[in-house]
Amino acid sequence: MTRPYNFSPGPAALPEPVLRRAAEEMLDWHGSGVSVMEMSHRGKEFMSIYAATLASLRALLAVPDNYKIVFLQGGAIGENAIVPMNLLRGRTRADYVNTGDWSRRSIAEAARYCTVNVAASAEANGFTAIPPQREWQLDASAAYVHICSNETIIGLEYHWTPDTGDVPLVADMSSDILSRPLDVSRYGLIYAGAQKNIGPAGLTIVIVRDDLLGGALPTTPTAFDYTVQAANDSMINTPPTYAIYVAGLVFDWIAAQGGLAAMAERNRAKAELLYGCLDASGFYRTRVVAADRSLMNVCFHLPDPALDADFLAGAREAGLLALKGHRIVGGMRASIYNAMPVEGVRALAAYLRDFETRRS
Ligand SMILES: *Cc1c(COP(=O)(O)O)cnc(C)c1O
Repeated sequence: MTRPYNFSPGPAALPEPVLRRAAEEMLDWHGSGVSVMEMSHRGKEFMSIYAATLASLRALLAVPDNYKIVFLQGGAIGENAIVPMNLLRGRTRADYVNTGDWSRRSIAEAARYCTVNVAASAEANGFTAIPPQREWQLDASAAYVHICSNETIIGLEYHWTPDTGDVPLVADMSSDILSRPLDVSRYGLIYAGAQKNIGPAGLTIVIVRDDLLGGALPTTPTAFDYTVQAANDSMINTPPTYAIYVAGLVFDWIAAQGGLAAMAERNRAKAELLYGCLDASGFYRTRVVAADRSLMNVCFHLPDPALDADFLAGAREAGLLALKGHRIVGGMRASIYNAMPVEGVRALAAYLRDFETRRS
């Protein structure tokens, strides 16, 4: 069976070898006689899966010893509230940088817990460029500075790490975590929903520096208290066991590909291929400035939205799925996370050229 290329923004494609392995192990995990879905989260089988998954993630990202990794639920949208609950630590203000719809949603949620200072906004440039740090109006009394490292909807990505001095930097990395090597020590906290570049929906990963723990608001739900979860192997409630297992298979797959440096090289090559094709055309249009283009979500428009339906139908026929852009921005979006092979991007580039020739 050959599968189509799936450009879904999320939940997104998983590496085919991972799906095959999960299928092979579905009914009987390693001779246990049961599926991972049917095991006690506290039994020795699942505990071994959990420990291996955590260790693989720690190794891939070279997470320093003074950081905890917790596996939660609630997604990045949950974290929009859980982060201020845990990180305000008696302060009343937090800095947020607004680079698009996901940061806007983080800001709206945080404003329920603290005074939000929008330190910089890309609104003035129509969300086509990341505001350079020299323009940021940071507040020295802020509990933290929050960014969204990749705006999944518009395809706007940081290719540099902000320097926020002693104020902890917090990043929503839902759509670009594990796409490249990362210096975790530059951040106070990193969070990501799993369903873009890690595994199935339902798992949320939080990486947090030790000194930021211990100060959660007293009203923080226990299941969302990083300190409590970190001290209990993220098992104060039943964790999303199957999602953790599949994430572990993905981490092993990434390591087998050569780790994050190899991923970064592949992702750069894929994005260059696609943007190169779009730039060479007089037909398709992109909006984001070249320096801040996302390597994960390649957004573009056809010259007339009336062509969109034909474009998408033809793409589907060519085995290229889920290219419709987010309803907020329209147009097209090709999400090319780690699991998208370069062959899929080549097939899309060929389709782009073909459609342009036929319709321009
Ligand atoms: C998908 C996405 C979200 C939303 O995540 P949920 O899992 O639905 O809560 C938030 N932020 C970014 C950057 C995303 O890509």
